[in-house]
Amino acid sequence: MKPYTSFTSVPELFRYRSVQHPDRVAVRFEGEACTYGALDRRAAAVQAWLVATGVRPGDRVVIDPILYCGVCFQCRAGQTNLCPNGMLLGRDVNGGFAEYISVPASHVFRLPDTVDSRTAPLIQVMTTCLHAQRLTKLFAGESVVVMGLGVSGQLMVQLAKVRGASPVIGVSRSASKGDLARKLGADLTLVSGERTAEAVLEATDGRGADLVIESTGVPASVADAITLARTGGRLLLFGIITATEAALPFYQLYFKELAVINGRAAKGEDFLGCINLLERGIVRLEPLVSHVMPLEKLKTVIGMLGPGSDQRLKVILDHS
Ligand SMILES: [Zn+2]
Repeated sequence: MKPYTSFTSVPELFRYRSVQHPDRVAVRFEGEACTYGALDRRAAAVQAWLVATGVRPGDRVVIDPILYCGVCFQCRAGQTNLCPNGMLLGRDVNGGFAEYISVPASHVFRLPDTVDSRTAPLIQVMTTCLHAQRLTKLFAGESVVVMGLGVSGQLMVQLAKVRGASPVIGVSRSASKGDLARKLGADLTLVSGERTAEAVLEATDGRGADLVIESTGVPASVADAITLARTGGRLLLFGIITATEAALPFYQLYFKELAVINGRAAKGEDFLGCINLLERGIVRLEPLVSHVMPLEKLKTVIGMLGPGSDQRLKVILDHS
């Protein structure tokens, strides 16, 4: 049993480093020599909760890193991912680099035997994709364009196919990532460029896409997404954009009456949904792991995280 940590980019170093420790967390629940931290105010109930979740000591588990208060307006409204009092394991409290971590039992999900430990770290990434897609209306047979075919984009392609979308069109600067997207179910992939809009129109009976999923986080790509969507279509802005200014075709947003949807983080239901899809082999994570490196190579891995690599997808750190 080996714990793993995964990285895709520098910001994700901080976002994701906490999640990827599926084995050691189970050790903590054996109750020996583990001190329940401030997070576990309900320590006495933990054993009962674990019975309820089906987790046994020694089980492989994956952890939902999004901690929430449970009592604020958003939590009571069921939007625990938006809790203003929320914290992130690995950012606000100890995460996957700690020897032991303490998590609420509600955030522990047992891994089925068919999901291997090496790819399990990607489940948390997948949950954010599933959560965002849950927020978007999509009917079987509708067309989807996924812009950006990194790890999230490849997962978006697979989830759109699961939902019956057709055609699913992937757009990337990288031909090799396009090749991978087609292996994972994309009906068509395009190398982003001047002909992208024309090719999308050709593939959608001249209308444009019913749903465009923007997963690069680059403002110029949002402008392209607006162009590629059909009149009356939807945009899912998934890539996190921190820029405060950008040139966008705002008039098209109005004229096409586009619905713009944002998805942030994920909820427990998304872990259940993702594990179910993985257990049944409907979504594949293994092709998204491009490198496995020992933890001692952390500095090297961070050096690999710059932009522009066609070959790098998810880098998994082996802690053993
Ligand atoms: Zn809350």
